[in-house]
Amino acid sequence: MSEYKFIRWFEELRKTDVPLVGGKGANLGEMTNAGIPVPPGFCVTAEAYKYFVENVKLEDGTVLQDWIMNIIAQTNVDDSKQLQENTAKIRQKIIELPMLPEIAQEIEDAYKKLSQRFNKDAVYVAVRSSATAEDLPEASFAGQQETYLDVYGVDDVIDKVKKCWASLWTARATFYRAKQGFDHSKVYLSAVVQKMVNSETSGVMFTANPVTNDRSEIMINAAWGLGEAVVSGSVSPDEYIVEKGTWKIKEKYIAKKEVMVVRNPETGKGTVYVKVADYLGPEYVEKQVLTEEQIVEVAKIGAKIEEHYGWPQDIEWAYDKDDGKLYIVQSRPITTLKEEVKTEETEMTEEMKVLLKGLGASPGVGAGKVVVIFDASEIDKVKEGDVLVTTMTNPDMVPAMKRASAIVTDEGGRTCHAAIVSRELGIPAVVGTKEATKVLKDGMLVTVDGTRGVVYEGIVKSLVKGKEEEKAAGGQVVVAGAPLVTATEVKVNVSMPEVAERAAATGADGVGLLRAEHMILGIGAHPVKFIKEGKEEELIEKLVEGIRKVVEAFYPRRVWYRTLDAPTNEFRELPGGEDEPEERNPMLGWRGIRRGLDQPELLRAEFKAIKRLVDEGYDNIGVMLPLVSYPEQVRQAKEIALSVGLVPHKDVEWGVMIETPASALIIEDLIKEGLDFVSFGTNDLTQYTLAIDRDNERVFKLYDEKHPAVLKLIENVIKVAKKYGVETSICGQAGSDPKMVKLLVRMGIDSISANPDAVELVRKTVAREEARIQLEAARKALKE
Ligand code: PEP
Ligand code: MG
Repeated sequence: MSEYKFIRWFEELRKTDVPLVGGKGANLGEMTNAGIPVPPGFCVTAEAYKYFVENVKLEDGTVLQDWIMNIIAQTNVDDSKQLQENTAKIRQKIIELPMLPEIAQEIEDAYKKLSQRFNKDAVYVAVRSSATAEDLPEASFAGQQETYLDVYGVDDVIDKVKKCWASLWTARATFYRAKQGFDHSKVYLSAVVQKMVNSETSGVMFTANPVTNDRSEIMINAAWGLGEAVVSGSVSPDEYIVEKGTWKIKEKYIAKKEVMVVRNPETGKGTVYVKVADYLGPEYVEKQVLTEEQIVEVAKIGAKIEEHYGWPQDIEWAYDKDDGKLYIVQSRPITTLKEEVKTEETEMTEEMKVLLKGLGASPGVGAGKVVVIFDASEIDKVKEGDVLVTTMTNPDMVPAMKRASAIVTDEGGRTCHAAIVSRELGIPAVVGTKEATKVLKDGMLVTVDGTRGVVYEGIVKSLVKGKEEEKAAGGQVVVAGAPLVTATEVKVNVSMPEVAERAAATGADGVGLLRAEHMILGIGAHPVKFIKEGKEEELIEKLVEGIRKVVEAFYPRRVWYRTLDAPTNEFRELPGGEDEPEERNPMLGWRGIRRGLDQPELLRAEFKAIKRLVDEGYDNIGVMLPLVSYPEQVRQAKEIALSVGLVPHKDVEWGVMIETPASALIIEDLIKEGLDFVSFGTNDLTQYTLAIDRDNERVFKLYDEKHPAVLKLIENVIKVAKKYGVETSICGQAGSDPKMVKLLVRMGIDSISANPDAVELVRKTVAREEARIQLEAARKALKE
């Protein structure tokens, strides 16, 4: 029997408790009871919500639940304006009504007890909503995305619990329940209140060695303060290798830790970089982060989690300053763990003189001539087969990394992006040597053992001989990174609605480009002919179906739908396409919005489809026009949208692609037509700026999205857009190129939309660049 009526501790919950505390709460209970030390907390149960709405009274004596049901009964959910207004009223009411004392008291008591576990009066918590009805599709609970971090003090907790409750009544969730025939009076919501870890030390752990694939080893990275520094790669962490079962610490590498991340002491929210020497004391810079006992404790928990999930895990852990205990904040499977590679022990011989030691970040052996570079501008110095030596590799250096036979760096840990890139490239790498750029000189011959993390003088025959076999055995492994939150949004491009779920699972912040071509060309007939034959409705339904899959999978994340942009040569392939005009150069011909305006019946059908989805409650859609060059085109397209009842800026966000130099140069005039966003279509922007047909391989070698002219156009648009408060994004292929991504982050772009397979890399690149910007600012501030 629980001590509370409205509250359950995680310890009291199991995975079967979904009706009481929702999926999230039940899962936390299950993990707690499996011995996984997730940060402690409690759930304010669905019963509490039910009790609240059934017992709280309005000023005129009406019971809240009756008042809500009355409003809902009077709401026509197909009238989106009315639905928006009425649900906003309900949410507002739940938030402004005071919490019932019997519930408030229990929350206060539980929050106090939670704080006392840490010998404090109050602790920072996260408050999240957790949907309760198991048989309801997740989509009907838009509110379950609700998460509040850095919540402090009982009043704040109660306020956020009510905000979670209110999220049950978003327009969209209400609409969905109505359409699915769910009884609004029987849907409840639980709120999870969980301690935020105040990390003293933190890091990541792989329960299989990601470098050698050795599953008998656990690799732990550790640094001072919050985990962001390790995850983003801006700090070289300590590294410990532990043998599973015997718990023997096989290897220890103590890094020089110059900076750390801590909670912003001024605001209590967010994080800042500080110098380890100032914050903790100079002795901490080269001090081992975890004690021997802690290393083993972390490793043992890792093994336990691996056993629980039946697969090697990539885990984020932290020791809490408030109680000194170990907590697990995140665990995900290592996605691409190859079969183990047995690396033969190499006998040390007389000729093997060790020059340097560091971390083996990418397995294999490489040998060649040393080339030391300090910055990406020098990458041309690196020739095929050279050993690239630098302070820290970065995405700018990828072309040189590809040419190198091995890579050696001063800084970095095995989980930093640079190490991951070298693993993906399959090039041996040793990182974190501290002094490679000093010890190794241009022109020296060296042998780099990326498996063991050693650099030898000269070309060591016995090592180089084994290199080919080792490579053939496939030493590469790609490790899933921990999820990162970036200030620059990282979105994904989608062409096929059938991949929407998979694309959404990348955790992308939205869809920066939903291409219409696949859906429309997929109807199997020329769409204009289709409409002329009286089958417009069929086309609209097809579009509604396709787009819905995407906006649903991503909800409430935003999806920008681009109207059809198929050139005549593609249309001609379709049945009924024989009448398409022959154009000398279809790329410069009848495509994009210019064609849409000439054949408005097609554009109208697209807008009608979008309007239907808006009426279904999808308030996460944007419309984007392709190949715009004239302000009139924006105006005319708007008129067509309005003619079918779709209101730009209100029903949908309204934007244009920047794909022609003209659009980039007259951006101000386009913005004056009324734009919510612009998105760079660099595939076209590059071809039109450099006069290079993007489909012509004869001139492809000259095709460069990072050509200064293209960059200038982009920079100009971002600058002007910022001035007018217009959002900027990129959805061309260049958005999947880390080098370009870095430039764009520095230019201040708001979001980057990448291909599904590149989302992870782009997110890491963005995080790293943002961390660098912060780090540079912090270092500058510290110097002053
Ligand atoms: C572009 O031009 O960059 C773009 C994203 O559009 P598409 O590749 O479909 O022409
Ligand atoms: Mg284009």
